[in-house]
Amino acid sequence: MATLFISDLHLDPSRPQITALFENYLASDEVRHADALYILGDLVEAWIGDDDDAELPQRIAAATRAVRDAGVSVYFMVGNRDFLLGEVFAERAGLTLLDDGSVHDIHGRPTLLMHGDVLCTDDVAYQAVRRQVRNPEWQKQILSMPLQARRAFAAKAREDSKAHTGNTMESIMDVNGDAVAEAMRKTGVTRLIHGHTHRPAVHAFELEGNAAERIVLGDWYEQGSVLRVTEDGADLRGLSLD
Ligand code: MN
Repeated sequence: MATLFISDLHLDPSRPQITALFENYLASDEVRHADALYILGDLVEAWIGDDDDAELPQRIAAATRAVRDAGVSVYFMVGNRDFLLGEVFAERAGLTLLDDGSVHDIHGRPTLLMHGDVLCTDDVAYQAVRRQVRNPEWQKQILSMPLQARRAFAAKAREDSKAHTGNTMESIMDVNGDAVAEAMRKTGVTRLIHGHTHRPAVHAFELEGNAAERIVLGDWYEQGSVLRVTEDGADLRGLSLD
């Protein structure tokens, strides 16, 4: 049996075919018979709070809840788009919340799980924003705003993010090699799985004399992307829309 990993779906009402792909995939035999499903952040394009009464959060909760009800654990780690997702929604959606940087034993191999944004240490401007939005006081203030105001705020944040991405060198927005090595050394793992950079790949390298591996999950803008891990290894594949 396989353990499945996805991230960076960026689900949004403007891409209904991707939401349908997500729902169909979660209803598939592969997911319903998996050992576990891990969602490593940026499941949605924007999350304004667990009290959001829009259609998309309800559809997501129905899809993940059905997987959980089929006996498959669904783990969820927030990304930089859905960091306001909390216990209330997790409970409703059958999600087990995971801290960024958790280590899980995946088929006998300790595996470090991250969204990936904390590894992008060269992007100093982004890291400053991250510190602000991860501050509990800041989050409390945002969540106390009316839903309508939070929707407007999220739209503005997306515009700012797009402008920053457009003006920042590609290399700066990738992970920093030293940050990767440090995170893996600290947790004593030889395998790291993360998303965020939208650069799907399996990177093999040497870490303190041991064979190590960094697997980067792909985004779901044009198609799906799924990592299947079994005892035999890891297989990263696209998931077509048809
Ligand atoms: Mn991200």
